[in-house]
Amino acid sequence: MQAETVAVGTEILAGHTLDANFSVIADLLAREGIALVQHTVVPDEREALGRVLSRALERSALVIMTGGLGATPDDVTRRVMASALGRKLIFREPLLATLRAKFEARGVTMSPAAEAMALVPSGVQPLENRVGVAPGLFLRTDRCFLFALPGVPAEMRQMLVDEVVPLLRRENLAGRVRSETLRTVGVSETALAEWVMPQLGEGVRCSFLPAPGRVDLRLWIRESERDVRELEATVERIAERLGAALYGRGQVALEESVVALLAERGLTLGLAESVTGGRVGAAVTRVPGSSRVFRGTVTAYDNRVKEAVLGVSAATLQSFGAVSGKTAEEMAAGARRILSADVAISTTGIAGPGGGSADKPVGLVYFGMSDARRGRSLRDHFGGDRDTVQERCVTVALNMLRLLLLDRLDLLWSGERRRQHG
Ligand code: ATP
Ligand code: MG
Repeated sequence: MQAETVAVGTEILAGHTLDANFSVIADLLAREGIALVQHTVVPDEREALGRVLSRALERSALVIMTGGLGATPDDVTRRVMASALGRKLIFREPLLATLRAKFEARGVTMSPAAEAMALVPSGVQPLENRVGVAPGLFLRTDRCFLFALPGVPAEMRQMLVDEVVPLLRRENLAGRVRSETLRTVGVSETALAEWVMPQLGEGVRCSFLPAPGRVDLRLWIRESERDVRELEATVERIAERLGAALYGRGQVALEESVVALLAERGLTLGLAESVTGGRVGAAVTRVPGSSRVFRGTVTAYDNRVKEAVLGVSAATLQSFGAVSGKTAEEMAAGARRILSADVAISTTGIAGPGGGSADKPVGLVYFGMSDARRGRSLRDHFGGDRDTVQERCVTVALNMLRLLLLDRLDLLWSGERRRQHG
């Protein structure tokens, strides 16, 4: 089956908006065993969209469009869809009532222009938008499934997950691939590939999805052609080989696995953040229920805060500097004490682009940790811009905490040359 997508948006072609919808759709369809053969971006112009849509309808069995469904003059999707299909736009009274109720619920009066959202080409089915207002559109012809979804990413995703995928499954277009995702941290993509490739069972395929400091391993099998037990056995073999480098399966985030570990062990966490400016705390608080284990973070950016709030000694700052293993350790110890936490982690480093020196280059970071038994620090060095360095720090800090809780800190110091005791 041939499937393709069309993004409508002058702002995407102008480079102002990243076409985030595309990767979400492509990824979700891939998980359903549907591979896209084409993706087209068109401006908010009737003629251009008309040409692309007509062509897509001729050659593809599945077409998913995004954007241009709203009620502003540049939203042309419903009109173009009607003319490409040779169908009339019909005013749907029940849809108008639903839209009116939505506006009322938000305390907004519906403008006459917004009523255009109740116009639907004949034979086309509106799809409910549970996040925003503009309904999606769905049409099944004798040779094609056509969807028009909103441009706003959160609305698009909701409709894709709640409406499109279940429909494709019901029609047996999807669901033929079984997949499992193993999430790893602290192992490079190449090392991972060396471990994983020899372990793959008959018919099991795998792809590596790297993020800063982490790699997701997606393993999948064509259910219709192969025995899914091959996949299950492969996953277990690889999981065992990965050991503590495996932090979760499926959608589990690193911070979620850390919060779960803290909760399991009945321990509380405190943070002291310099180079990350609160980003580690922000990651932890993204997890629902983190309040049970998270005491808080002290953003100790300035040395005076490190000293006055966290109790880092003036002598340490003087002789080792703010970016040092000793400071990182004292920051963690201070956070643990003043936040009454069982364990504490700290970060201090140089995110760049300025502020580096020969012996303390941009990207140098020290992580501190403190628990009832001891204090330690870890030195690491990251490439990339300011944002990337900070993001890597969050990953390493969370992983350090995770390995501390698993009593596997040895993994942090093993193997990698650039890492050493602070
Ligand atoms: P609205 O009802 O808000 O007008 P719409 O369905 O008409 O929604 P657009 O007007 O095309 O959609 O886009 C709405 C917002 O979503 C814009 O901010 C746009 O930049 C963003 N957007 C549109 N398409 C994409 C895309 N492919 N990826 C990411 N963002 C997108
Ligand atoms: Mg719009």
